Amino acid sequence: MADILVSIRNLDVHYHTRMGVVKALDKVSLDIERGQLIGLVGESGCGKSTLGFAILRLIPPPGRIVGGSILFDAEELLDKDGAYMRQIRGKRISMVFQDPMTSLNPLQKIGDHLVETITTHESISKQEAWKRAEELVDRLGISPSRLSDYPHQFSGGMRQRIMISLALALDSDLIIADEPTTSLDVIVEAQILDLLKELKAAYNMTLMLITHNMGIVAELVDRVAVMYAAKIVEVADALDLFANPVHPYTQGLLKSIPNIKLLDQEFEIMKGSPPDLIDPPTGCRFHPRCLHAMDICSEVDPPLKHVGNGTMVACHLY
Ligand code: SF4
Repeated sequence: MADILVSIRNLDVHYHTRMGVVKALDKVSLDIERGQLIGLVGESGCGKSTLGFAILRLIPPPGRIVGGSILFDAEELLDKDGAYMRQIRGKRISMVFQDPMTSLNPLQKIGDHLVETITTHESISKQEAWKRAEELVDRLGISPSRLSDYPHQFSGGMRQRIMISLALALDSDLIIADEPTTSLDVIVEAQILDLLKELKAAYNMTLMLITHNMGIVAELVDRVAVMYAAKIVEVADALDLFANPVHPYTQGLLKSIPNIKLLDQEFEIMKGSPPDLIDPPTGCRFHPRCLHAMDICSEVDPPLKHVGNGTMVACHLY
């Protein structure tokens, strides 16, 4: 039986704005198995980062989790108080952000940052924490002598390695990486992706990788969840999803990726744009853009259901 680390059910996140209520997550359900590397993909604004922040209970105001459940290691996170969540964050669930400079204190040396992170969550001496910090950065390809440097003295790729070392410092059960390579050039991006692959094998990490880049997903992940307009529309093992995407939106996403092995490839650009989440289309939210839309599609919201082979899809075609 699958060892589920995170089980999300019917999660709703709303932002109350002057224009109306933005339903940023709408009845989202997802399981993440221990040791799995899951990719969360979809266009900008589909809710993928919101889901990452919701797991950490860090939805910024005016957003709020208004319904549903997040079980983490069988414990309901939505019932926990602020003090409990502060212990969980960093120690058991870590987040790696797109721009490391937003998370690193520019006035604090990298070594002090790591030592503070470790000693906040574990009762060990500063000397022991410093030793562990040295081992960690060395493992991630940074000379331990650079622990005395400040964040601005590192390149973007090095800073992202430091963020990953912070996530590994406490041996977190779950690492959520939100577009971790978007601000990097392609060579450094490839290095960071190789590093994540290596670490996954070495640490048996459970990693949720949030990205709009299907190439990264193909390269790295075990399982993929595809989001469209605040909902999950397909979840499948990565090999199955790329070989046989079942939701029309996933099919459209994959057809729009360039493939250098296919010299005569014709791109298909998906028509239309993602809907306004204050007033989304009725029924299936993808119906105004879907080439297979039927009458029922504009009336009934299709539930996410199993269609065999471990694949789940929300579409009336199945
Ligand atoms: Fe297309 Fe209908 Fe399926 Fe939505 S439910 S993806 S509109 S076929």
